[in-house]
Amino acid sequence: DAGTIGLDVGGTKIAGALVDASGAVTRRMTVPSPATDPEAIVAALAALVEELRPSAEPIGVGAACAGYLDAERSMMRFAPNLAWRDFPLRSLLHDATGLPVVIENDADAAAYGELVHGAGRDAEDLVMVTLGTGVGGSVVHQRRIHRGAFGIGGELGHVRIERNGRRCGCGNLGCLEAYSSGTALLVQAREVVRTGGPAAAALIERCGGDPDQLRGTDVSALAEDGDAASVELLAEVGMWLGEGMATVAAVLDPGFIVIGGGLSGAGDLVLGPARTAYKTHLTGRGYRPVARMVAAQLGNDAGMIGAAALAREGSA
Ligand code: BGC
Ligand code: ZN
Repeated sequence: DAGTIGLDVGGTKIAGALVDASGAVTRRMTVPSPATDPEAIVAALAALVEELRPSAEPIGVGAACAGYLDAERSMMRFAPNLAWRDFPLRSLLHDATGLPVVIENDADAAAYGELVHGAGRDAEDLVMVTLGTGVGGSVVHQRRIHRGAFGIGGELGHVRIERNGRRCGCGNLGCLEAYSSGTALLVQAREVVRTGGPAAAALIERCGGDPDQLRGTDVSALAEDGDAASVELLAEVGMWLGEGMATVAAVLDPGFIVIGGGLSGAGDLVLGPARTAYKTHLTGRGYRPVARMVAAQLGNDAGMIGAAALAREGSA
């Protein structure tokens, strides 16, 4: 068949792809996210759909969105990093494209993508965390996404890990998202550049001395080359993640934790410290099994591929 279109709508960029029944991406595009303008995001999504459509024939569209959806998956209630507030996204996107549309939370879509085509193929239960502009979460029990009473379940990025901690886009202080996101990594890395000093030399050189020019991918690239300051910045993100997941484990006792989002591309530079922190903060540690923590098999494409798979199913 022609495939379905998966969109991943984040606070920094919008990724879209034409995805076949096996989960393979046959065409893809990425555009910047007009995150502060609710209507402009819809226009950008409709334009992406037009580009990705193989022909004029009808095709299903799934949009993975970085925020809280209503239980019926028709509205975006709120998003920490996008301007959508009580926004009827599904009907607007349907009107703009003339195509059948399903919308889902991006981390839930990523979990679905991993369940169907990735690391979760053989799993009954898993916890998904995505590290991007924000931190997303999804709780899968018996291969079903646990959406909660009002559709907002599994928001693991907004578990508080620090009292009176850093400000989060959701309005609270001390959320995991303010410590383990790509945004938080960049804030910390820029801080290191500003502080200067010999330890920051590689980061300073990379951005030509202008912290605003620094990108998250610069930090991972430098860390891969062994730059100590960059390795430490990624390790910090991992430590907070591990600590946060240990708190989550007190509720869910997961056996399998899948880490996706852009930052999961840093692999063990984040996951190594995360596993260590997880083990050392678990309640009853030493006397209980420790969950397996792995990078998403579909990497940062999990949300987009999951959204396309949801469009194929009609809904999960
Ligand atoms: C939002 C989540 C989303 C995550 C990743 C968070 O700020 O609250 O709904 O899944 O970012 O985009
Ligand atoms: Zn928050």
